[in-house]
Amino acid sequence: MKVLKFGGTSLADRQRFEEAANLVHEAARDGRVVVVASAVAGTTNRLSALIETSNRIDVDWKDEVCVVERQHLEVLATLPLQCRNPAARSIQTIIEVLRNDLRALAADPANRKEIADRVLAVGERLSVQLLAATLQSKGRAARVIDAADAVVTDSFFGEARVDFEATRRRCRRLFAGRDTATSIVTGFIGADRHGRTTTLGRGGSDFTAAVLGAVLDVERVEIWTDVDGVLTAPPQLVPSVSSIPWLSYEEAAELSFFGAKVLHPQTVGPLAERGIPIHVRNTLEPARRGTEITAHSGARNRVVATSAFEEVTAFRLRDVFLGSVDEVLMLCRASSDGTTLVAVPSSRAGSLIEQFEIEDHFAASIVTLVGHDIALQPWVAGRALESLARRGIAVRSFAAGASPHTVALLVERDDLENALCTVHDALMLDRETLAVSRRNLKTEKKEIRHVSAA
Ligand code: ADP
Ligand code: ASP
Ligand code: MG
Repeated sequence: MKVLKFGGTSLADRQRFEEAANLVHEAARDGRVVVVASAVAGTTNRLSALIETSNRIDVDWKDEVCVVERQHLEVLATLPLQCRNPAARSIQTIIEVLRNDLRALAADPANRKEIADRVLAVGERLSVQLLAATLQSKGRAARVIDAADAVVTDSFFGEARVDFEATRRRCRRLFAGRDTATSIVTGFIGADRHGRTTTLGRGGSDFTAAVLGAVLDVERVEIWTDVDGVLTAPPQLVPSVSSIPWLSYEEAAELSFFGAKVLHPQTVGPLAERGIPIHVRNTLEPARRGTEITAHSGARNRVVATSAFEEVTAFRLRDVFLGSVDEVLMLCRASSDGTTLVAVPSSRAGSLIEQFEIEDHFAASIVTLVGHDIALQPWVAGRALESLARRGIAVRSFAAGASPHTVALLVERDDLENALCTVHDALMLDRETLAVSRRNLKTEKKEIRHVSAA
């Protein structure tokens, strides 16, 4: 069995749904497939904006809801009636529930967070209808599964944590037997023990694919997106990126933690534990190889990628307060005055600045270099710092060795793009070199097997 996850960018319009359905249809010829779908591109942002403005009397949400409804119904327009009608009816029911929830939010109820999660979940609940109907129009049976029936979470609305054991029990029942219909599951959502819909955090559909992959112990998980796999840097910041053919779980986990948006940060862990390969592929160019993530790195002692945690706030904090700060991204304790430089995600900085009455803080970003054991290679930090110095970019803090696979540099936010391009171009290896090291790695493994057999 395989899990195929399609991101919102791969489900942007009718044409993309056709392409995604073709890929599923093709994969289902070779064996059982479970599909995880995100919301249509832009829908979750729209729903989030509706939640934000729901209790403002000057903002009318009705038109916006009509736009969402029309956009989804349009995807069905060219499908045969027997596929289109049931999906259209389900869409109308989901939109009706959305309207009721928005009315409830406008009244500012006590259970606001719970309702907000139901509103956010609408995007995935709509898109699975479209994908199932498109697949059915190709002659393949498809059934929609609402992840609220499959993924069991705690009640932390907005960023719920998954209970893997309870989810495994549910999924065994749901996916048991030799069902010939392809299951299309909503990404991003789950439900707590009381059956209340929860969400797993933005970008969480990748994590849904990982959760299902792990509890169903599938042979692989494919993440279908809009780029050629994991790239050597965020493409919107660095023009000279290339695709990485192979990554280890550890490298992929470091990259996604430090801002490579292509994978939700929690995706790698559950699959790495079971040795399930992750294949990141491009829906627009399905013939390209993409990135294969397994236990083995494509290149040892080399920088394979760079990434950026963009929105960071840094400040000095008295050491006695350190214990009460969670979500620290970087710490630097090298002063005589009992203070430590702390870098946290900017989204969490406001309350800390207020709580500790911090006057001096600055907008920063963390640029990371990732590669197997690179923190142990003296040349990596040396070349990175030198390349930045040549461009006159100040490194405000530096960390290597917390993970042997990551070197992190704190720079001022205004320097981010320049710093990332500089270290990327100074340290990245080209694809050919990576392929050569991969071949060496294979030879190395053969030799090891040979020795142990003797
Ligand atoms: P999806 O809708 O498929 O989940 P996302 O927008 O969440 O897609 O993630 C894919 C995007 O991640 C890419 O379009 C790219 O802009 C961004 N990205 C950031 N860093 C990387 C990276 N290192 N490799 C690939 N993509 C990256
Ligand atoms: N639709 C959700 C989001 O936009 C989840 C996802 O796309 O992975 O965050
Ligand atoms: Mg995503």
